[in-house]
Amino acid sequence: MGWFSLPETFVSSQASRVNVKDSLQHAAKVLVNAGVTSADINAQWLMTHVLGCRRTELALKLSEPLSDEEQARWDEVVAKRIQRIPLQHIIGTVDFCGIELDVNEHVLIPRPETELLAEMAWVVAASMNQASVLDIGTGSGCLAIAVALNARKATVHALDISANALEVARANASRHGLKERITFHEADMREPLPVNGLIDLIVANPPYVPSRDIRDLEPEVRDHDPHLSLDGGEDGLDYYRSLAENLLPCLSAEGRLMMEIGEGQASGVADIIGCSGGRVLEILPDLNNVERIVVASAVNS
Ligand code: GLN
Repeated sequence: MGWFSLPETFVSSQASRVNVKDSLQHAAKVLVNAGVTSADINAQWLMTHVLGCRRTELALKLSEPLSDEEQARWDEVVAKRIQRIPLQHIIGTVDFCGIELDVNEHVLIPRPETELLAEMAWVVAASMNQASVLDIGTGSGCLAIAVALNARKATVHALDISANALEVARANASRHGLKERITFHEADMREPLPVNGLIDLIVANPPYVPSRDIRDLEPEVRDHDPHLSLDGGEDGLDYYRSLAENLLPCLSAEGRLMMEIGEGQASGVADIIGCSGGRVLEILPDLNNVERIVVASAVNS
């Protein structure tokens, strides 16, 4: 054996190593078989997590072999995803409007549809100068944080019934330097508000899935999102009833109530708002052309 020869154990472990490209391809196949949608994208995100790189950097690493340690972590994360554990719980974070947020089983994973509500909310809040904003059922804090970051003069309050969710939301706010800007309240959104004075903008993504539909949701949602943040009662509209009744009287003269709604709920929610002394100003579709956001005011404003 010459001086330059490699020990046999090293050679064989090198030879058995799989590169990034083959690992991604294999994972995409097994994830499809497990019923995961967008399996290839999921595999890429899992790989960036294992390699600690950006998704755009993956292309440069395709021919690199995984180290033993990376391989072990890769096997572990793919196995978790096969069990339909949400990608965001495995990675521990989600990107919401370009803001990285921590998530866990205590909060609803922020959805792309809700980014539309966030964007509309911060545009309105910024146009109001020193708006007072309230996020109802804040969960991860996504709406409150996106508004506070993009409407720098707004005073933001956020409430949630779950102490565990508030812990996540507070940590996310601190992480983005918003500890002093957002006041968190542990409160039931169906009760009168814990905030004094009139509010300029109230945003809410309340639970709106009809109770009987929960069992048919994707396993990632059904088994991992808190049912507290999904279950909207028999017709899915329970929370809109109490929100319209409790919140409309709390709006300032120019105040707006902006809520996310489920598919097919626009007319039901509009009726509820009308019956509670409110006026629907706009109903906006999401990127899939599903009516998704209701903007309302109090009638006399
Ligand atoms: N949009 C969620 C879903 O996909 C539901 C969120 C909610 O009820 N607010 O199931």
